[in-house]
Amino acid sequence: MDLVIARPEGLYCPAGDFYIDPWRPVERSVITHAHGDHARTGNQHYLAAAPGEGILRSRLGQDINLQTMAYGERLLHHGVTLSFHPAGHVLGSAQVRLEYGGEVWVASGDYKIEPDGTCAPFEPVRCHTFITESTFGLPIYRWQPQADVFAEINQWWQANAAKDKTSVLFCYSFGKAQRILHGIDTSLGPILTHGAVEPLNRVYRDSGVYIPPTIYAGDVKKSDPIMRKALVIAPPSAAGSTWMRRFGDYSDGFASGWMRLRGTRRRRGVDRGFVLSDHADWPGLLWAIGQTGAERVMVTHGSVAVLVRHLREQGLDAQGFSTEYGNDEEELTSTEATA
Ligand SMILES: [Zn+2]
Ligand SMILES: [Zn+2]
Repeated sequence: MDLVIARPEGLYCPAGDFYIDPWRPVERSVITHAHGDHARTGNQHYLAAAPGEGILRSRLGQDINLQTMAYGERLLHHGVTLSFHPAGHVLGSAQVRLEYGGEVWVASGDYKIEPDGTCAPFEPVRCHTFITESTFGLPIYRWQPQADVFAEINQWWQANAAKDKTSVLFCYSFGKAQRILHGIDTSLGPILTHGAVEPLNRVYRDSGVYIPPTIYAGDVKKSDPIMRKALVIAPPSAAGSTWMRRFGDYSDGFASGWMRLRGTRRRRGVDRGFVLSDHADWPGLLWAIGQTGAERVMVTHGSVAVLVRHLREQGLDAQGFSTEYGNDEEELTSTEATA
């Protein structure tokens, strides 16, 4: 009997009678992380890893019925032993380990291999069946070390500041924004943030993650000279909006794993693209899958067919799991979602 099956409401554990990251409201939900496509409103009960509590409450409401557990702590529910293990994706992100009748399954949620200092690093968990994401599950996706990407961002910011140009960097407001703030060279100038980013910075700071001092962009006048040297962190949805009118002469950039694709930057209409993802790249996915020792792999998100075929060629029992998880590297508008 399978420990996790696909149901219209989401991934379901029949033995434990609960769902993992359900996309329709259910009674009992186990949440891997607080990105909008994994943590939705309307569930009667939420169970999540403790470091994610602040983010979950700030996004889903302070009064949600939420129970948390430390990484590695075990809970026995209807005979199923459940525990959370770091996924290295965003603050509080977790893989869910389920054990029942000697069978071990791990549902990874979203994960990233390279540690970034803003959340607990990914820890491989041994299991018989591994449910993996494959957002970037194509051989073309191979990330540079993040230090190289931060060096590129720093150089771009410095060059703009030397020309009295504001640097506006678009990135996903939860996770990516804090990772960039944590990693950039703060000696280069002031850092301004969009209103969508600042509340999340607060949760990270409250959790003890170092996020450098930031200034809410709405408080700074266009004429203020600090504008010219500033790096502005804003969500992609701010691009082309009236919010941008507060900046005079600026250069804009976009940080996302999708910037690896030729043409994405042009379609986005930004000056610079920085390839920075909070997901595992192709070698990272294969490494993580290998580390679990799993003989059976269920693939969700993204390039399911390509990864499934590759794993089968390696002798693994692999299959796709159809889910409604989206693409958290970009806050896509409905028209772009089909592109
Ligand atoms: Zn995510
Ligand atoms: Zn996801």
